[in-house]
Amino acid sequence: MAERVIPLVDHRAAALPPPLARAPVAAGTLRDARGRPLRDLRISVTDRCNFRCSYCMPKDVFDSSYAYLRHADLLSFEEIARLAGLFAARGVTKLRITGGEPLLRKGIEHLVGLLAALRTPGGRKLDLTLTTNGSLLARKARALKSAGLDRVTVSLDGLDDAVFRTMNDVDYPVAEVLAGIDAAQAAGLAPIKVNMVVKRGANDGQILPMARHFRGSGVVLRFIEYMDVGATNGWRMDQVLPSAEVLRRLQTEYALVPLAASAPGETAGRWGYAGADGRHDPALGEVGFISSVTHAFCGDCNRARLSMDGKLFLCLFASQGYDLRALLRSGTPDELIDAALAAIWQGRADRYSELRASLPPEAAHALRRVEMSYIGG
Ligand code: SAM
Ligand code: SF4
Ligand code: SF4
Repeated sequence: MAERVIPLVDHRAAALPPPLARAPVAAGTLRDARGRPLRDLRISVTDRCNFRCSYCMPKDVFDSSYAYLRHADLLSFEEIARLAGLFAARGVTKLRITGGEPLLRKGIEHLVGLLAALRTPGGRKLDLTLTTNGSLLARKARALKSAGLDRVTVSLDGLDDAVFRTMNDVDYPVAEVLAGIDAAQAAGLAPIKVNMVVKRGANDGQILPMARHFRGSGVVLRFIEYMDVGATNGWRMDQVLPSAEVLRRLQTEYALVPLAASAPGETAGRWGYAGADGRHDPALGEVGFISSVTHAFCGDCNRARLSMDGKLFLCLFASQGYDLRALLRSGTPDELIDAALAAIWQGRADRYSELRASLPPEAAHALRRVEMSYIGG
């Protein structure tokens, strides 16, 4: 059989800023080349997962011959915490642990503890959250909460067991994820968000059942447009169900009113369930829409992403990251790593989602990018 070679990750690192550009940059919040601050750091802790969602880690690519990273290649928890501390000093107030499936990383509670101990320059704890497929949550929710985790986001693509088993493509039952959500609620990891990637023709029949289930439950359900991340999922525009269409379907059953964004750089458009008076009823809750295909939101994007092997990515659609692990493991002192971070962020001009709108779909998709399972959502 001919060998199949699929370029998943561009392992060349982007060039680190030259030493001259690494002269100390005045302390405080950084702004990129478009004036955007750095507020949100997503930390991917493993490239492995026990699910094979076809939009993220399709089975035919992520099979037994797939070359995952070796443990020695992963940043240690102490290395991650050191970098996160430097980011916090530069204005990051929110940390999200992701993957792959982050709860598969052994001893993840230890990392949670290290990150929970970090403080902003003003002395405040950072908002610490984690995105998970929920399969190990029933077992781990209490330990995560005790270690200092504030909240969780659980990915769930349907309530119907057969649809869910097809979406995760490993025949995993939905009841276990629902038990994980219950355990997270009981442990106080609230407010819990549930992310549903909507793929037309696959799980769009689950939009209304999901809304019915989570309305009034305290859980915020968010619909994510199926994105053209990575190079393996065979993304096609006709499989994207635009958020406007999801909203229209919800409105066949419920009255919804638009809500203001909760924070600058917030990725989700928010709509609240209305009560009998036509106004938002907080007891009924809200839904969110992450419309990264039909509604670009690069203008105030304040997110950076750190891969499990220590590369810093400035955009979900970037093809190369900056190798911070090389700095960590060559004994570079904090001041010089900080100066490198500052120079990297100050040079950032990424705005892929906005540019995509001006490219023909095939041209946009042909750009080679890293996988979602490598740099997290
Ligand atoms: N395994 C964890 C999980 O599924 O929650 C964390 C990592 S996963 C890569 C993070 C988020 O990315 C999930 O909510 C997932 O649904 C989303 N995601 C993955 N591939 C996507 C795609 N092609 N389009 C939109 N969202 C995607
Ligand atoms: Fe795994 Fe999450 Fe990707 Fe699904 S979306 S394959 S659960 S990393
Ligand atoms: Fe941010 Fe890149 Fe997404 Fe734009 S495309 S919102 S810059 S991650």
